[in-house]
Amino acid sequence: MPRYFSPPGALLIHMPTPAFHWARLGVDAPLPLRRGAWYRILKLTSMEATLNVKGKPFPVPRGQLELAAEPILRWTVVAAPHGAPRFPSSWGHQYAVCPSCRERVPLLDQPTAMRCQRCNGLFDVAWDEHYLTKAQPGP
Ligand SMILES: [Zn+2]
Repeated sequence: MPRYFSPPGALLIHMPTPAFHWARLGVDAPLPLRRGAWYRILKLTSMEATLNVKGKPFPVPRGQLELAAEPILRWTVVAAPHGAPRFPSSWGHQYAVCPSCRERVPLLDQPTAMRCQRCNGLFDVAWDEHYLTKAQPGP
């Protein structure tokens, strides 16, 4: 039998499971949450997360959310909605959502990072994550 060497205090093996503090829509559900925007979790149970939406608690089933322990400081790339009357057609087929203030900005280019005009935060653009594209209904 091998003997495992583990000096006391050298390994953080008793770390608690990370608590989730942030959530965003993980499915294309008709909820009053901005797609791609992160919301603070006020309360989390095995069934639902209560989010701080515009200063008010709003419960959402956990299965419709994507949870994160730490704030995500990247612009979420969101595909433009189809047939949304209020969506500016000049924005093309996708836009970005600020991870800090939830501002939406058009993506006319493919910048690796952008500064938010509203909160002045500078963040990378999460081009690699393909937000919500897996949840899109098939043809
Ligand atoms: Zn911002």
